[in-house]
Amino acid sequence: MVEKEVIMDYKDLANVIYPDVKDIEYYEKKYMPRNLPEGAEVTRFAPSPTGFVHIGGLYQCIINRALANQTGGVFYLRIEDTDQKRKIENGVEQIIQAIANFDFIPDEGMISETEEKGDYGPYKQSERREIYHAFAKYLIEQGRAYPCFATPDEIEEIRKKQEAAGLRTGFYGIWAKYRNLSVDEAIERIKNGDSFVIRLRSNGREDRKIKVKDSVRGHIEFPENDQDAVLIKADGLPVYHFAHVVDDHLMKTTTVVRGEEWISSTPLHIELFNAFGFKVPKYAQVPNILKEEDGKKRKISKRKDPEAAVDYYHEEGIPSDAVCEYLMNIINSSFEGWRRANPSKDMSEFKLELSKMGVSGAVFDMVKLLDVSKNIIARYTANQVYDYVQTWANKYDNELANLLKDKEYALKVFGIERDNQKKPRKDLSKWSDVKDNIIYMYIRPTSFDFDKITGENAKKIIEEYINVYDFSDDKQVWFDKIKDVAEKMGYAREVKEYKQNPEAFLGHVGDVSTVIRLALTGRRNTPDMYEIMQVLGKDEVESRFKSFLDIVK
Ligand code: GLU
Repeated sequence: MVEKEVIMDYKDLANVIYPDVKDIEYYEKKYMPRNLPEGAEVTRFAPSPTGFVHIGGLYQCIINRALANQTGGVFYLRIEDTDQKRKIENGVEQIIQAIANFDFIPDEGMISETEEKGDYGPYKQSERREIYHAFAKYLIEQGRAYPCFATPDEIEEIRKKQEAAGLRTGFYGIWAKYRNLSVDEAIERIKNGDSFVIRLRSNGREDRKIKVKDSVRGHIEFPENDQDAVLIKADGLPVYHFAHVVDDHLMKTTTVVRGEEWISSTPLHIELFNAFGFKVPKYAQVPNILKEEDGKKRKISKRKDPEAAVDYYHEEGIPSDAVCEYLMNIINSSFEGWRRANPSKDMSEFKLELSKMGVSGAVFDMVKLLDVSKNIIARYTANQVYDYVQTWANKYDNELANLLKDKEYALKVFGIERDNQKKPRKDLSKWSDVKDNIIYMYIRPTSFDFDKITGENAKKIIEEYINVYDFSDDKQVWFDKIKDVAEKMGYAREVKEYKQNPEAFLGHVGDVSTVIRLALTGRRNTPDMYEIMQVLGKDEVESRFKSFLDIVK
């Protein structure tokens, strides 16, 4: 009898706090189970719109996308904008664009600042206020949540007392001051206009343990949650913990992929799922990406490291495949072996296994990333390189974009040692390197660094070579002619010959071709010189030789 009366009281209290909300059955019916194959994973990326996407967010997208794709599931984008102070203008668009640059187009969720697709929305938390209120009301009715009127001063006082006594801080046990306020008193204070938050009435005990299963780390044991955590703030918006439970339940998330900073909150989340009688989703709490500095490892940080923001990779022109593939290397150590065995397969064919993921944070290694990138670019055709470089240049480098306007010529430049080659050139790791890499194909060199050979001898070599150069020669004849010039000018035809008797020669055929290379490109190292001369064309080659002879004294 007494019990029944108490429940009635809680109902009254709930009605005073949230008079006009639907009951939770309404939402349970509205968001029916998803019609997906057995074992299908529903995953989500749930960033806050703070103006940038962290590399760790991209890392989560790769995992989310792979889990959903591997199982015929769904990957959706939810925007967690309940912290109104951190919100920035167009923050949602920025997130959508930042991940779209890496080809992540969620199946469902926000698709622009204000639009969304999918049957489980709204996908922006600030628009789910009444849903959170309905669920908070339910907990209040059940006696599992209550209004707490503690002022900032009171909270501070409690904290000080706890610290002075060497106790854990927070609202638990006797410290949860408003937990046992009578319903009448609570209603009176609310009617009086006092500010309040809604707290969980925890029934956990610190001296009891629970086991949390994490798909990355296995079982982790924790003390139960005993904190009367805030669920709804004074502004009526939920805190992360509450929104996580309500949203991931209603949106039918099967695996929550999130950063490891949330691990310590899982006992609270489990208590909340249990309070509602909801199934707890699987958790994959992924390690942070670290940076090594002065021999020490630390979290990669937005403030200190430009590479913490995913837009950095886009601006630098590191192909998105390379960034994702590099991160996949970090995520699953078996990926590297798979890639070696399957050099041309799409990364999506690799089966990601969370249990094989490392648990200590992986150190971000830019050198390794650029190496992965080099190998990926080496697999692109000239046409692909052209398209990527042009898109990048249109946005970030006008001068390069202008150079690329003659597409036919640019394709030939990018095709040097690329198409139909068993061993394609590997001298590009990002689009921002392209201009310097190809500029000599557009602009005649004006300075020459000969090293061993004197300018005078270099001139003699070019004067001699001009006489025999013929654009229509095939590669063999072309090279034989260089050897002929070498011999005629006192250089060994073959390197071996020179090495046996260095005194007898001015140098060897390599020195002669270096002079020709320098005269044409201003560089000592370039891809295949025969191909370069074919692409430059007869007139340009001849003009470059003439200009060389004019410049060199
Ligand atoms: N909005 C939370 C964050 O940005 C999401 C955590 C989660 O994925 O659950 O950290």
